[in-house]
Amino acid sequence: MQQVLETPIEYLKGVGPQRGELLRKELGIGTYGDLLLHYPFRYVDRTRFNAIGDPMEEGTPVQLRGVLKEVRMIGEKQARRLTAKLVDATGTIELVWFRGLRWLQPLLKDGAEYIVYGKPTLFRERFNLAHPEIEAAATWDQGSATPLQPVYSTTEKASARSLNSRGIGKLVQAMLPQLKGGLPETLSGTLVEQLGGISREEAIMEAHFPQDKQRSDLAIRRLKFEELFYIQLQLLKQKQLMQHNVKGNVFAHVGAHFNSFYTDHLPFELTGAQKRVVKEIRKDMGTGHQMNRLLQGDVGSGKTLVALLSMLIAMDNGFQAALLAPTEILAQQHFKSLSRFLEGLPVEVRLLTGSTKAAERKSLLTALKLGEVHILVGTHALLEDRVVFRNLGLVVIDEQHRFGVAQRARMQAKARTPPHVLVMTATPIPRTLAMTLYGDLDVSVIDELPPGRKPIKTVHRDDGSRNAVFGFLESEIDKGRQVYVVYPLIEESEKSDLKDVMDGYESLSRRFPLPKYAVGIVHGRMTPEVKEYEMTRFAKGETNVLVATTVIEVGVDVPNASVMVVENAERFGLSQLHQLRGRVGRGAEHSYCILMTGDKLGHDGRTRINTMVRTQDGFEISEVDLRLRGPGDIMGTQQSGIPQLHLADLVQDAELLQKARRVAQRLLDEDPDLKDPGNAPIAGTLREQMREKAVWGRIG
Ligand code: ADP
Ligand code: MG
Repeated sequence: MQQVLETPIEYLKGVGPQRGELLRKELGIGTYGDLLLHYPFRYVDRTRFNAIGDPMEEGTPVQLRGVLKEVRMIGEKQARRLTAKLVDATGTIELVWFRGLRWLQPLLKDGAEYIVYGKPTLFRERFNLAHPEIEAAATWDQGSATPLQPVYSTTEKASARSLNSRGIGKLVQAMLPQLKGGLPETLSGTLVEQLGGISREEAIMEAHFPQDKQRSDLAIRRLKFEELFYIQLQLLKQKQLMQHNVKGNVFAHVGAHFNSFYTDHLPFELTGAQKRVVKEIRKDMGTGHQMNRLLQGDVGSGKTLVALLSMLIAMDNGFQAALLAPTEILAQQHFKSLSRFLEGLPVEVRLLTGSTKAAERKSLLTALKLGEVHILVGTHALLEDRVVFRNLGLVVIDEQHRFGVAQRARMQAKARTPPHVLVMTATPIPRTLAMTLYGDLDVSVIDELPPGRKPIKTVHRDDGSRNAVFGFLESEIDKGRQVYVVYPLIEESEKSDLKDVMDGYESLSRRFPLPKYAVGIVHGRMTPEVKEYEMTRFAKGETNVLVATTVIEVGVDVPNASVMVVENAERFGLSQLHQLRGRVGRGAEHSYCILMTGDKLGHDGRTRINTMVRTQDGFEISEVDLRLRGPGDIMGTQQSGIPQLHLADLVQDAELLQKARRVAQRLLDEDPDLKDPGNAPIAGTLREQMREKAVWGRIG
């Protein structure tokens, strides 16, 4: 049967070489198996229509039936679009398309009847439908007899060559009979029963040709579960293999360094979350296998201290530790705060960055090799080959998203037994995403801020209130506070963005003139030295206002800065806004975040701004971000490592994902090697998937 699934799509009746090429290029469908996995993304309930005059809601899809009027091509070049009106007995709604105009136009006939499906958007206080699906009522009425009709995703180019949703449906219809009786079960009998008793084959058939709403819902749930289950099972299996095969250093005891710091030098009580996480780490490092732990904690949640306590445990067991930061500034800050924490203790902390002077580097490297340096803080410079440890036992990596897997590996290669790894990130990732991306790591979460933090007051202002905003900045500055003003700079090459920053700098310099005030500026086009200089001036309080692009996003710590103004805030992503806001609220004073926008905001932009105003909880913000952008965009599509999902959705199926993880974990707990005969279908499927992955891994 596997062979049938690998049949090139050209061989399917009704395809042939030309459409085969199109399917391959446009939709990535090269074989029968690919077509099988090209599931419908929704089902039309052919029996239900909305009336145009009924109340609509932005974003809630409607299915309309009406006569098309005033089909027009309007606008020039970029702004060129196709508009039409759809009229039924209750009202009229405008339809508009911006893409695929050439093939669409001939299909739209003035005065003919159409079925239209789409999500209404509010434009100039009226609803319209942008890029709705549309089909002539005449062909619609000849459509399938079942009330639920599958809708397949396709492209405009493929549609133009009759590979629209219906065309794809026909191909699936032609293929399925050939596969009948040959799609093997992949789950155990117990699981199939738990999921409603639908076999894999029946589920696949039902997904493409739903006969009955209840049954097809169950079928799709089963298929989604299966998809998520195997991702989790692979990750958990990998973790299991690592724990069995990779020996780690055993940090068996907690000794003098940890204890004397904890009892005599800790400047404050740990938060409950910090205590819990330290306990998790301690346990991990004591087990004898290598720790691979991700530590998530919002800005200011006190990750540094957790890192330090972990490093002291390494020292107590005779090992060295390293702390890697993504930038020079951050490395310096870490070095300073660790040195401050450790004052008066016999712990040798040193800093190594690209700008460490040659003589100093030389003595440092010697001391490191001899084991006289206990904790080494630094940037990428730590990865160089000449940096040799006597016995590296723990690597802490801050702000993980700036370090790749390859760099993690280089760090690990610096010790005979792979050191424990603690990766810290202040970019909260939604639970579902973390489970999928880092499912083979252990995850700790600091979900509590140290006591006494005052919330950062966040407001939304438009350009009309600029004078008032400047007045407020002045009053803060006159109180001795400092202010960030941040501009978007998407690409460093974008001239108009750069001009905005410069203009902003000029107008702020005029509003806050020398000698009473000083305004500084940093952006990505500056040399690192100049950037560093400007940052340092601001950190020392020599400038009152720092105009900047997002180069200041990560980790900069100037406790005296109390106001963050973000210009064109609607252009920033949510996680960026959250990081930026995290730059203030570090001192004892009240802090403010002012989000400036123009007065017209799109749906997503408004949602982002409202979310920021409403909450300061990074995890809540990341959930909204995931809903708005989808998992690929959140992590940066390419190296994200997000597995391709055919049916399941990390946002909508969060609950099912958790179930899949639980079930997979329980399965491995009960039957670690999947030897139980009842689990044979699972063992076989898993083996095949891991083999495929290994092959790809080697090619990549
Ligand atoms: P982040 O998680 O963003 O790296 P830091 O480790 O820089 O946060 O901690 C932010 C600030 O909170 C630091 O000044 C740190 O000394 C302080 N801090 C950390 N833990 C506590 C605590 N338990 N109680 C009070 N202050 C704390
Ligand atoms: Mg930090």
